Amino acid sequence: MKKISHIFGPVPSRRLGRSLGIDLVPFKTCSFDCVYCQLGRTTNLTVKCDNYYDPDEILDDFKEKLKKDKSCAGADYITISGSGEPTLNSSIGRIIDEIKSITDIPVSVLTNGSMLWKNDVADALMNADLVAPSLDGGTDEVFRLVNRPAEGLVFEQIISGLESFTGKFRGDVWLEVFLLKNISDNEKEIEAVKRNLKGVRTDRIQLNTVARPACENFALPVTRLKMETLLTLLPGNAEVIADFSMQEREVFREADEQEVLNLLERRPCTKEDMSVSLGMHLNEVVKLIEVLERSGLIMNEIKNGSSYYFSAAHG
Ligand code: SF4
Repeated sequence: MKKISHIFGPVPSRRLGRSLGIDLVPFKTCSFDCVYCQLGRTTNLTVKCDNYYDPDEILDDFKEKLKKDKSCAGADYITISGSGEPTLNSSIGRIIDEIKSITDIPVSVLTNGSMLWKNDVADALMNADLVAPSLDGGTDEVFRLVNRPAEGLVFEQIISGLESFTGKFRGDVWLEVFLLKNISDNEKEIEAVKRNLKGVRTDRIQLNTVARPACENFALPVTRLKMETLLTLLPGNAEVIADFSMQEREVFREADEQEVLNLLERRPCTKEDMSVSLGMHLNEVVKLIEVLERSGLIMNEIKNGSSYYFSAAHG
């Protein structure tokens, strides 16, 4: 019987070191449909907070993973993120609280920040150690163009949500600004971001850009030089975190479903195995797995606490 695994990693992360991921929502359940998303178009564009999965099932998966996979003990963060917007899971608060009662590893939440104006969502994150929201532009125009939000989301409301949340939250706040060539890589937009962040507490502001194939062809990377120039407009806690290695090699490794199938025909693999064996970003692997699973070409099985994929032809 096919079972969804909610836990992945630990995987190396540029921002978080070794990160053990927890996915709280079904693939591409998100309040945004960002043009730069590496996971493809959002299939469930929503602001509905719901119990997308049984929280006990997620917590059981997590406990089993911690018990069986000794490498988890060395993780720098337990990261609530995954393949959609995690704050849409209405049990996120309970899940964070229980994780904190099980382990001393700090808990981080990667969020698009769109739901923090809701008191219940903000309150649910209070026990996390680090919250990393996004703000990809300083104007409503760029917000609508880049993030393509679900109906009902209002830019000003998101900014006031960031202000009130970061005023109350006691943990670290790392705010990501994801910049796109010819859309948001200009002085005017960065100045607008800065103005909007006046009332927002940030421990770090992290500038990022496209490093792997994006959802839309017009979502293009900003050069290192341009990013560093724009950085000078921001306060001292700002840094560039983009992975320029792909740009510098001028290579974007294309996702190839056949390569994944060929590998799985040889041996069952975890997502992490596939990422290492094929030299692909984990997010890319996740995207391909979703497509191949939907087409019935691969299947999934939990063995020794890890989720393995194998070719359906061998099932
Ligand atoms: S980048 Fe994040 S917030 Fe944007 S559509 Fe993808 S999963 Fe949602």
